[in-house]
Amino acid sequence: MVLSTERVLIAGAGPAGLSAAAYLTRRGIPVTVFEAEAQLPENLRASTFHPPTLDMLAPYGASQSLIDQGLVAPKFQFRSRTEGCLAEFDFTVLADDTQHPFRVQCEQFKLNHLLHDWLLAQGGADVRFGHAITGLSQADDSVTALIKTPDGGEEAFTGRWLIGAEGANSVVRQALDIPFEGFTWDERFLVVSTPYAFETAMPDLTLVNYFADPAQWFFLLKVPGLWRAMFPTRPEETEAEIFDPDRIEARMQWAHATATPYECTHTTLYRVHQRVAERYRTHRAFIAGDAAHINNPLGGMGMNGGIHDAFNLAEKIAAVWHGEGGGESDEGLLDLYEKQRRPIALDYVNSQTIRNKQNLEANTPEAQQIFRDFLAEVSSDPQKTHDYLLRTSMIASLRAAAKITA
Ligand SMILES: Cc1cc2nc3c(=O)[nH]c(=O)nc-3n(C[C@H](O)[C@H](O)[C@H](O)COP(=O)(O)OP(=O)(O)OC[C@H]3O[C@@H](n4cnc5c(N)ncnc54)[C@H](O)[C@@H]3O)c2cc1C
Repeated sequence: MVLSTERVLIAGAGPAGLSAAAYLTRRGIPVTVFEAEAQLPENLRASTFHPPTLDMLAPYGASQSLIDQGLVAPKFQFRSRTEGCLAEFDFTVLADDTQHPFRVQCEQFKLNHLLHDWLLAQGGADVRFGHAITGLSQADDSVTALIKTPDGGEEAFTGRWLIGAEGANSVVRQALDIPFEGFTWDERFLVVSTPYAFETAMPDLTLVNYFADPAQWFFLLKVPGLWRAMFPTRPEETEAEIFDPDRIEARMQWAHATATPYECTHTTLYRVHQRVAERYRTHRAFIAGDAAHINNPLGGMGMNGGIHDAFNLAEKIAAVWHGEGGGESDEGLLDLYEKQRRPIALDYVNSQTIRNKQNLEANTPEAQQIFRDFLAEVSSDPQKTHDYLLRTSMIASLRAAAKITA
């Protein structure tokens, strides 16, 4: 079957690719999604959905399903390992700013399934598993993706636009020769999942808790049925040392001592980067999500920012497709995607996540005191609390992007 070239091609069926596919499908635009894996990957990655992300996903039924399958987390805390809660923040104060004044704690792969199911239910969705993009070429009025097919062959697919949403190692970004500027942290992050009931041992704990400690920061997040503890590892530690069960147990006991050993159901170690692509667009090809920016997970902004990219870009493509530019030239509107979203990745997500990490790892009494003073100042002033929660929920970043009009 020869596909019509009147379609948008999307590489990657992750949160960014499927969000773009859902928006375009809802606007009646044919989409073909290419996913390298044979099925939707179910690896443990993001677990925090921020309020505006839930607002965006609501029309697809995904927000309510995430709420049903996940945990509603209206509050989060900064804590000291030895002294307990330092400050607690409550998203309820954002009731006039969002339809969802809370975070939802839920594994990101559940969102991918929800969006994929929604696309299938629309009837026309074309999601191709086992199809990996390997390259692309562009003409004046079309873009062609080279796709490795499950039988090992290669096929060319042509569309009007291409969205590269195939994650941090994006082939589209590399084919467009776009530098991925930034750096990689020396330490890797270890995530340990356990069914241990921290909430029983620490009754005032919320579902999202960041522990600042001069020796080693960590955080404790809850997803359905499990707590996840995340620790930075030392650069000189080998993988064998990090995954040594005795050392994992020692890390967990240091975080919170228990009478019996912890049951650990998963452990994941990953490298952490702060990188933003130099451009988000070349002619008819765009990048979005981790393909365009990656950051440390403190604040839960990677997946959320990728979903915000996807909706921003898909809205612009849909407006051009349907001739709804509203006086803006088509090229100007499509360029606005990068103008709105790249500064957010640089000045907001990148700097906020670096600041979050630096605050938690403050290791001198003076630096610890500065962070505690900051928490006391923000949590004691309602206006400062509100502004702070607008930033941590990412609502402020979306408002800042919307103000960029040219
Ligand atoms: C341990 C961990 C915890 C995290 N916690 C959070 C959090 O709490 N909150 C948050 O917002 N973010 C978090 N993140 C980051 C988040 O997981 C990513 O930002 C998010 O997955 C990016 O979504 P994406 O759709 O851009 O890319 P991905 O989720 O990486 O999806 C890309 C898809 O493209 C496919 N693909 C790859 N290559 C090709 C190819 N050549 N052709 C076709 N398909 C291809 C992949 O198989 C994949 O399905 C975390 C990350 C990690 C590792």
